[in-house]
Amino acid sequence: MTQKKETCEVCKKPATSLTKCKSCGRNYCAKCQSPSTSQHFCKECVAMEGVISKQ
Ligand SMILES: [Zn+2]
Ligand SMILES: [Zn+2]
Repeated sequence: MTQKKETCEVCKKPATSLTKCKSCGRNYCAKCQSPSTSQHFCKECVAMEGVISKQ
């Protein structure tokens, strides 16, 4: 088994751990996690949508 190197699909930089965005489905790093939500959305999706649905 070879370990695949993880690359953030948002900022295109190597990352140690990735999270899958619930909106666009891309894998993003901790730096690309939206600071305005605790849910799994990348900062780009939050920027596009404005505010993700309030609960
Ligand atoms: Zn990133
Ligand atoms: Zn996204």
